[in-house]
Amino acid sequence: MCGPLGAPWQFRRCDIRNKNKRIIDSGLVVFFEAPHSYTGEDVVELHCHGNPNLVDLVMVEGLSLGLKLAEPGEFTKRAFLNNKIDLAQAESVADLIAAQTEEAILAANNSLSGRFSEGINKSIASLVSCRVSVEASLDFPEEVPEGGVAEGLLLEVEAQISYLGSVLEAAKQGLKIREGFGVAVVGAPNAGKSTLVNRLAQDDLVITSDVPGTTRDSIRANINLSGVVVEFIDTAGMRKNPVSQIEREGIKRTQKAIEGATLVLHVVDANKRGGVDSINKNSIKVLNKCDLLDSIPLCEDGEVCVSAATGFGFDNLIELVLIRLGLSSSTETSLLSRRRHVDSLESALFFLNESASSLKKEEGMELVAENLLAAQKELGEITNPVSSDDLLGEIFSEFCLGK
Ligand code: GDP
Repeated sequence: MCGPLGAPWQFRRCDIRNKNKRIIDSGLVVFFEAPHSYTGEDVVELHCHGNPNLVDLVMVEGLSLGLKLAEPGEFTKRAFLNNKIDLAQAESVADLIAAQTEEAILAANNSLSGRFSEGINKSIASLVSCRVSVEASLDFPEEVPEGGVAEGLLLEVEAQISYLGSVLEAAKQGLKIREGFGVAVVGAPNAGKSTLVNRLAQDDLVITSDVPGTTRDSIRANINLSGVVVEFIDTAGMRKNPVSQIEREGIKRTQKAIEGATLVLHVVDANKRGGVDSINKNSIKVLNKCDLLDSIPLCEDGEVCVSAATGFGFDNLIELVLIRLGLSSSTETSLLSRRRHVDSLESALFFLNESASSLKKEEGMELVAENLLAAQKELGEITNPVSSDDLLGEIFSEFCLGK
């Protein structure tokens, strides 16, 4: 189709021809020689012009010569199967493509670069060496040094518990960045909830009205707050005595939104302060309509004074929301992670804690060995799972074609 290949990794100008030797396009060809290609295999890339009809012709020609179309994520899957990247890195390719904010892009790149996997692999290596000394003490009890191996092992297992605990925290944070945060905006009718969400969105996403009880459903708006997608749920007002069935249903949904939210913004009309129910949840009390007050009230801890009408106090509000979501601007760029990573880390920590408690209680080394192996397997699931067919199918089906 394109004549002889040039030297590896060098673009060569080429005419792309059909089987009758007619030129379809003039483009570039580049040969990536194995193993130094994305997939680890020999790869040839044709660069042609963007006309979709022309691209189609090139593809049809290729297919007639025996090429086959790639499945979604096939290049990344091959890269994984050829050990160019591990599974956590492969997942971060999909995350990078789907990332909607700067924070998510930086975090996905952190995982793609292998920082996350490196930490997991170091931990696996340490557990392997712990297992070697446990197994040796079981197989050759006569060679165990005086005082036994338990003390040294316990120190190492505890070091791993502390390290993986911090990885788990980062992974949980990464999961939230990937899946987004839910913030429920609640308060009495007319407190200014919809106006506040609109101001945050800097767009009229939610309808406002001065008739109490207008927002009866929960309206959701995804808003980019300093690089993180936060879903604000503008809920129905919480009146003590709802007047209609629809309003009662709206209030039920509000309660559900509060239960599912990471944070609750409790909007209060600053002019009618007092007698406000407190919310039993991570919440911020937002004193709204401060533009109508003669003087700005002193805010207590966890309170912020704003005016949704003028935008007064919104910098403080956004800063407080980010802090309460654990995303203050000073936090280091985190990793992007998935629920399965968090699950595996939690299980690994469970087995390590079991090992530590067996070592402290001087229980049998068999049990310690078993728990260390279980912890190691759990960590392995993150980067190189053993029973992987279903999991791989699930992960790579999320990719788009050509990745
Ligand atoms: P919701 O029922 O809590 O969603 O309240 P809305 O957002 O619909 O607002 C109710 C009324 O209060 C509307 O007329 C808004 O224009 C008005 N309002 C909302 N926020 C402010 C504010 O900060 N200052 C003033 N002066 N009016 C506001």
